Amino acid sequence: MAKISVVGTGYVGLVTGACFADLGNEVTCIDIVPEKVAMLQQGKIPIYEPQLEEVVERNLAMGRLRFTTDYATGLAGAEFVFIAVNTPQGQDGEADMRDVQAAATAIGANLTTSAVVVNKSTMPIGAGDWVANILEKNVRPGVEFAVVSNPEFLREGSAVADFLVPDRVVLGSNDRAAAERVAVLYQPVKAPIMITDIRTAEMIKYASNAFLAAKISFINEISSICERLGADVREVAQGMGYDKRIGSAFLDAGVGYGGSCFPKDVRALEHMASIHGSHPQLLRTVIDINRDQRRQLIQKIRNVLGGLNERTIGLLGLAFKPNTDDLREAPALEIAHLLQHEGAHLRAYDPAAMAKAKPLLPEVAFGRDAYETATGCDAVVLVTEWNEFKQLDMNRLRSVMAFPLLVDGRNVYDPETMTRLGFIYCGMGRRQSAHYPADYVPAPFTAPIGAH
Ligand code: NAD
Repeated sequence: MAKISVVGTGYVGLVTGACFADLGNEVTCIDIVPEKVAMLQQGKIPIYEPQLEEVVERNLAMGRLRFTTDYATGLAGAEFVFIAVNTPQGQDGEADMRDVQAAATAIGANLTTSAVVVNKSTMPIGAGDWVANILEKNVRPGVEFAVVSNPEFLREGSAVADFLVPDRVVLGSNDRAAAERVAVLYQPVKAPIMITDIRTAEMIKYASNAFLAAKISFINEISSICERLGADVREVAQGMGYDKRIGSAFLDAGVGYGGSCFPKDVRALEHMASIHGSHPQLLRTVIDINRDQRRQLIQKIRNVLGGLNERTIGLLGLAFKPNTDDLREAPALEIAHLLQHEGAHLRAYDPAAMAKAKPLLPEVAFGRDAYETATGCDAVVLVTEWNEFKQLDMNRLRSVMAFPLLVDGRNVYDPETMTRLGFIYCGMGRRQSAHYPADYVPAPFTAPIGAH
């Protein structure tokens, strides 16, 4: 069993560290945030991620998993050092590599044994050589290293399962022996392991995310066309998805993609392509369509309510997708800002992301559940398709609303059933409820609900 260090204990680093420990390795995770490390040392995880807490607890108890803020302690005896710090969007869309730079510098300065340094963060093409340069400048004499790119493909919400049963493991290095040593770590997960040169591995990650984002923007464009031509995009997608060449995944029309990866990775690839003289028209269009989706949703509400000023709108779901509390680039945040910009009052509820949302949305009144949130609303918008929202008592929901406009940003409800229940139903790329009282005067704004 190997001795592994993981630098950065966010969604990717914590899952990587905990899962490698679960496979029997000795793992030490390093993070610079002392409160996070203190929590983790108690077996409490700072993020919402199904199954993760039990894996962390189990491996802490077995003594195979440790957490520290101290690089020297965390790297002692390490054979493999995974870099899993964030690479957020920088100024012009390029990846911001400051955390990677700090991590690589600290690794170089504190490594006392020869090790394979594994780039797990999503890093621009060429970053492998850049990290190797930083290490080279900082390592102590006699300490040898190789750099391997091992992009991560896990999805928040099912991250543990995705790590343990991935579709593939990609390893890129200019040092094949180093990549093969990392491959041994992954042998227990029984997935195809692909070894490439380092730039190809880095590109596989960006190309994969860009392709998935393009699939979402494609179906969203089809959805707008469906809406105008009277077809139902859900059934169109289902009919397309049966074709094995197309597949049904990522064909859900809705409010567009969000989250910590797709938006920044598509922009970073577009940026890399542009500065290297390529003309990434498709990527630019993918980004444009995604931006338009939010605006189209706002337009639907505006159309029915005749305007947004002084209207009260309830948002169901804030996280960028179900089963996570991650709000990075969440469509709900942009929708909230657009609505507020036009004078709407907002109420909101999310099963997991409320604590993170409150500081980001200070003028929003948060409900304890969907019903409290919908009370007195002129419109309710389903933004994140949590299971909880699929099982609502829709009669009860409608009965507490001031006006029954239901905007289904994820197409989870049946338009006919909702219309029968008395809602004015607007989905994405589907038939809308045809009749609504044109003389509707929205109720005056009711006092915000108390903070919970
Ligand atoms: P995150 O922000 O959740 O976690 C990053 C962690 O690194 C934080 O805990 C932070 O405190 C820590 N950190 C920052 N600088 C540090 C330093 N110098 N030394 C030690 N720790 C430091 O990020 P994430 O979502 O886990 O993403 C990490 C990388 O993985 C990104 O490049 C991302 O694009 C990629 N990725 C993310 C996902 C995902 O679903 N979140 C999936 C695949 C790939």
